[in-house]
Amino acid sequence: MLNADLHCHSNVSDGVLPPAEVAARAQANGVELWALTDHDEISGIPAARQVAAELGLRFVAGVEISITWAGKTVHVVGLNIDETHPVLVGGLESVRGGRIRRGREIAVQLEQAGISGAFDGALKYAGNPDMLGRTHFARFLVESGVRPSVSEVFKDFLVEGKPGYMPHQWATLEQAVSWIRAAGGRAVIAHPGRYGFDAIRMGALVDSFRELGGEGIEVVTGSHTPDQYDAFARIARDAGLLASRGSDFHGPAESRVDLGTLPPLPASVTPVWHDW
Ligand code: AMP
Ligand code: MN
Ligand code: MN
Ligand code: MN
Repeated sequence: MLNADLHCHSNVSDGVLPPAEVAARAQANGVELWALTDHDEISGIPAARQVAAELGLRFVAGVEISITWAGKTVHVVGLNIDETHPVLVGGLESVRGGRIRRGREIAVQLEQAGISGAFDGALKYAGNPDMLGRTHFARFLVESGVRPSVSEVFKDFLVEGKPGYMPHQWATLEQAVSWIRAAGGRAVIAHPGRYGFDAIRMGALVDSFRELGGEGIEVVTGSHTPDQYDAFARIARDAGLLASRGSDFHGPAESRVDLGTLPPLPASVTPVWHDW
């Protein structure tokens, strides 16, 4: 099966490497079909596309949109989008708004927990200040010696019920799917195993997503266990959704899974790239 990696990040959102270096790493790791899917941001795509073309790596433009669904943050990936489409561009601009304000509130909470200087400290890690996010705060907390790694930070900080968590209203499911479709892309539910939804809630998300014109779901992702590959392959089949595969790579020292190194999709599902 084609080595497709259709989910990863550059430093225009919360990845570590610039888009050109992510492209080179994908190619070096044997990826044959690649998408850059930065959070709520498409400005890395021209450089990614150009370097991919120079390297002979097949590329599709992508994005990972933050939404609030049933009170929870959920991510929807858009693949094979026209990243210049004004509906998508305007929509993403509206989701990005408010991250600086949220960052200030996160920093106030961390200050109260005895950690000072977090706003400027996190901003230093944000290649794109508009996209200041929790990962940048996590890197600052590692730098400050609060925890040894980004993943350890997320156990005790920046998540619901812990210092540095600030609820935020992202886009709606309907908006995310409609922007992606307007831009000619395919909408995919990102890392469904990460939300802690029971079968009823997951079924409700999948049903609403399909009614709105969503077409795919991630089955093999860096966020899933092998058991979850099978569970979500079954959900994809039962719901008639296409299946996607992506590392969710953020950086060499940070990500458990490197670009292009996950197992293939189960043979029972239809890949989201089947007709590309
Ligand atoms: P934000 O969009 O600012 O809320 O940040 C969300 C990002 O935080 C995700 O895209 C991940 O990169 C990162 N993140 C969230 N939870 C974890 C975790 N448990 N371990 C590592 N990174 C995480
Ligand atoms: Mn991220
Ligand atoms: Mn995500
Ligand atoms: Mn991601």
